[in-house]
Amino acid sequence: MRRRAFIGLGSNLGDRRAYLEAAVSALGAEGDAIAVSPLYETEPVGGPEGQGPYLNVVVALLTADTPRRLLQRCQALEAAAARVRRERWGPRTLDADVLLVEGCTVDEPDLTVPHPRLWERRFVLQPLADLVPDLVPPARLAASGGSVRRVGRLESTLSDRL
Ligand code: ATP
Ligand code: CA
Ligand code: CA
Repeated sequence: MRRRAFIGLGSNLGDRRAYLEAAVSALGAEGDAIAVSPLYETEPVGGPEGQGPYLNVVVALLTADTPRRLLQRCQALEAAAARVRRERWGPRTLDADVLLVEGCTVDEPDLTVPHPRLWERRFVLQPLADLVPDLVPPARLAASGGSVRRVGRLESTLSDRL
């Protein structure tokens, strides 16, 4: 059975747009990505002082993958971007998170779905709302935190089949 699932991508180190485009194209190559949100530039939330702004997008999939398999795909994307883990919430070339998998919840030590901080974060809720307004009530979007600024779109061949 295929379900809609949403992956959040962020980059605030190096050629941010190129890291996001590579990740979207790798997801697209697996055949189950159906749409990519507009691109947002966003202020870092939490983490050390002085890190640069992020670029963020959300990618929608229509997939038979389990949440765990999606986490593995996220980790593979991060590895491909040569992400180095230093401090928590520190700068990174690519962060890929499993945001939501429709009809699924997971609560395990290394995987929580929906993402536990999803509803706090405008940098994921705004692009998610652009893709699927029904999933994000306006009051929840308004209650979320952090500044986001739409800065166009990635180069992507993903058609919108939501
Ligand atoms: P945040 O979780 O607040 O977005 P982060 O993305 O910076 O922070 P990471 O260092 O990238 O945190 O990931 C820490 C761990 O979170 C990963 O090793 C992974 O096992 C775990 N994790 C739990 N739930 C999820 C999820 N839904 N998506 C991605 N990683 C998750
Ligand atoms: Ca994250
Ligand atoms: Ca992460």
